[in-house]
Amino acid sequence: MIAGSTAKEARKLEKRLTSRSKARRGWQRRLAFAVSAALSELIVRMIEISVALAVTLIAFVPVLLYRFAVRLPAGKPLFAKRAVFGRLGKPLTLLTFDGLSDGMATLPWFLELFTGRLALAGTAIREWQPSAPAPEQGYISMVKPGIISLWSIRQSSRIAHEGREATEWEYIFSKHPVYDFLLILRALPAMLFSESQAASSEIFELLGLKIDNMTMSDAIRMMQQALAEKRQSAIFFVNPDCLNQSVTDRDYREALTSADHILPDGIGLVIAGKLLGTPLLENINGTDMLPFLCTMAAAEKFSIFLLGGKPGRAEMTGDAIAQNYGVTIAGAMHGYFDHEKESNAVIEAINSSKASILLVAFGAPLQEKWIVRHRAVLRPTILMGVGGLFDFYSGNIQRAPRWMREIGLEWVYRIMQEPGRMWKRYVVGNPLFLYRVMKWKVLGRSLNSDTYGT
Ligand code: UDP
Repeated sequence: MIAGSTAKEARKLEKRLTSRSKARRGWQRRLAFAVSAALSELIVRMIEISVALAVTLIAFVPVLLYRFAVRLPAGKPLFAKRAVFGRLGKPLTLLTFDGLSDGMATLPWFLELFTGRLALAGTAIREWQPSAPAPEQGYISMVKPGIISLWSIRQSSRIAHEGREATEWEYIFSKHPVYDFLLILRALPAMLFSESQAASSEIFELLGLKIDNMTMSDAIRMMQQALAEKRQSAIFFVNPDCLNQSVTDRDYREALTSADHILPDGIGLVIAGKLLGTPLLENINGTDMLPFLCTMAAAEKFSIFLLGGKPGRAEMTGDAIAQNYGVTIAGAMHGYFDHEKESNAVIEAINSSKASILLVAFGAPLQEKWIVRHRAVLRPTILMGVGGLFDFYSGNIQRAPRWMREIGLEWVYRIMQEPGRMWKRYVVGNPLFLYRVMKWKVLGRSLNSDTYGT
């Protein structure tokens, strides 16, 4: 009896002690968290003030003095005002250098790092609109806007396909001093691709091909419309390697010319657009497009047939996208059949599946030539060449991490993965492409392919 009550007392005491120690641990943890949060906030502020000091002394003051001397005698204003959303959705007036282009115009923003009204890295700076913000925007506004934002970086490399709000949420969920630091590092190379939001032409003419200049949502809308009208459309993507091949391979070039739409894939095209004065709205490739295409197809009840890749990969991709997006997979087949003798049987399988969208993944230029050769007998409405897409979606080849794509280095990742096959495509192909772009720019657009291709 005595032993039982002693044991009970001991248990009570143990419970009290452990709960007290747990409480103390909880209290200590909260204190440690508060101290580390305050410390990291302090470090971030110190970095911001150092950057603001450096930019003010090195760039802002000299530019200000120069403009003071040049513009004031001419009676022109030094600054322009821009009303944007500040923290907590309040209006904030920012000064820009009047008459200068993007990067230089925003030099005065660095002064706002002293006042703390802007952060170096934060949410995107948006023009002020007096109407009440949507509730989601209210939450986004709780984070300070930054001179550098995930949205602005993705816009620079033209891969901001998810839209501003989704990108802002991604930033807010990832926000951390180390993440911000890496974001700032990413902003430096991204500046190379950025340019002012000049009105851009709908067609980007390059090496004699007419490339569509549209956003990802425009491209999806274009396909949705073609599907609704049952208007067969062949859609091909071109990257620098494809364009290099189009110069030397006449059949491929003809296949591209006969496409209904050619879409620009990769940072090389963004750079070419910049060099030729046609800023690209977005860098669109099959891998980034697939989620949007599947979401639209699932909503509109259009089914997809996947053709290409090594045996099993189209099926694995089909399973993955059916599960993730609820899209119907009409059929899937590998791409290693005899393209001369067995194409009829493959086309029969595609047509009898009643698929509306056919994705062909044989790699360029094989897939484009195959689609164009057989398009008259193919029933699906959308015929699209998608390269190595199934290798990525079946998980057999890893895609470059997002940060590498943001700074335009996806190709470096691909060389690291398959050096034997990729080095020539990129190490030789990229400079050759830039040379051809410059030749096209200098010698004009009236030349035929043989002239600018060599
Ligand atoms: N492929 C195919 N049939 C062939 C040759 C290639 O299905 O006769 C596939 C190959 O397995 C790979 C894709 O085509 O999945 C080509 O990938 P690559 O990365 O070269 O294409 P890219 O995206 O670079 O155009």
